Amino acid sequence: MDLVVKNGIVLTMNKGMEILHQGWVGVDKECIAAMGSQDTLPQPGAETEIDARGGIIMPGLVNCHTHAPMTLFRGLACGLPPMAWLNRHVSPTDERLARESVYMGSLLACAEMILSGTTCFCDSYRFGEEVARAASTTGLRAVVGELFTGLAAGGDRGDTLPARLGNHALVTVAVGLPSVAEASSGQLQGAAALAGKHGVPLVMPVAETEKEVSQIEKMHGRSPAGFLESLGLLGPGLVACHSIHLTENDMALYKHYDVKVVHCPESDMACASGVAPIPRLLGRGVIVGLGTDAGASNGDLDLFCEMDTAAKLHKVFAMDPEVINAETAVKMATINGARVLGLDGITGSLETGKRADIIVVDLSGRHLVPMYNPYSHLVYSAAGSDVAASVIDGKLVMADREIKSMDLGTVMNGVREICRKKGAL
Ligand SMILES: [Zn+2]
Repeated sequence: MDLVVKNGIVLTMNKGMEILHQGWVGVDKECIAAMGSQDTLPQPGAETEIDARGGIIMPGLVNCHTHAPMTLFRGLACGLPPMAWLNRHVSPTDERLARESVYMGSLLACAEMILSGTTCFCDSYRFGEEVARAASTTGLRAVVGELFTGLAAGGDRGDTLPARLGNHALVTVAVGLPSVAEASSGQLQGAAALAGKHGVPLVMPVAETEKEVSQIEKMHGRSPAGFLESLGLLGPGLVACHSIHLTENDMALYKHYDVKVVHCPESDMACASGVAPIPRLLGRGVIVGLGTDAGASNGDLDLFCEMDTAAKLHKVFAMDPEVINAETAVKMATINGARVLGLDGITGSLETGKRADIIVVDLSGRHLVPMYNPYSHLVYSAAGSDVAASVIDGKLVMADREIKSMDLGTVMNGVREICRKKGAL
């Protein structure tokens, strides 16, 4: 074995949700080769050994919906209604972003994600090749799409995306769309055909705002989900982000076509978009993952915060503390996130043969003592800053809170410099 993560509580997130209370995970090249309880650890173990010191060893988290470069807009004009915020602030400045700024913003986003336990993310923005380059530089697994305002050149650019993304081993492609209301039927079908042609996910917000729903109803006499069904767009490759304003019929359609949902509770709360009917979707057996959405609308890209918020939001909204338990929240951030992106064959759980995407959560902090239940700790007590180590595709990407592949200080200064020109402090 090349690498062993040892001396921790192994949460496998496999089908049986097995836990090895004192365990280890062994890695050979990119894959998990073996795992077991501490007394079965072969000696000598491996060239590289990571001591979890009694912490949690678990699959890396999967952030199913981000716009990595928008980390550059963190905290800019927050508190405005979403459309005013987008039109008055983000979109105009956005136009002036140079390609290198997209790369720098993405690098910072990747660093933030690695340092808070994310090992795989799905992104939509412009200059997808720059997002892919940043993911590749930092060693993150990524599904990269492109987003086109107005979609004018969408088809052409989308078609060349796989070639433009280059040869990054851990990056795959998605087709991204800004929203159902902003696209014509032809554009929607074109995007779906493109996704089908390449066998990649089609990622788009669906029923994110009441305005979108009423627009679609006015134009097409159907709900957004119903309209997408009429165009033949509902299917297992559709990643429906937000999915807030759904009818019971929409939810039945999602289940029938195996549509995947990305829940982004913090962004939805910040934009006052509404509360997605996640417990009802889960009750129907729809696969739901978690996403932070942009650093601009969320404030951060920490999926630990997202798990906490998701669980608590639905408890208070349903006035029922049992409506989403901690185990479900961790599933959404790991194996079910991987299922949303079609990557559950390689990541999202710790199982032999899968790619080694592993994080270690340090349990030595005062806020983590005592511990009765590891899932509750991960959701309600731990933060991204408790992640001590990260292995992605068998490579040690972060250890003792240091990212191996980049000089974070230089990236932070680069981002400050870009933002200083926009009037940031
Ligand atoms: Zn978004």
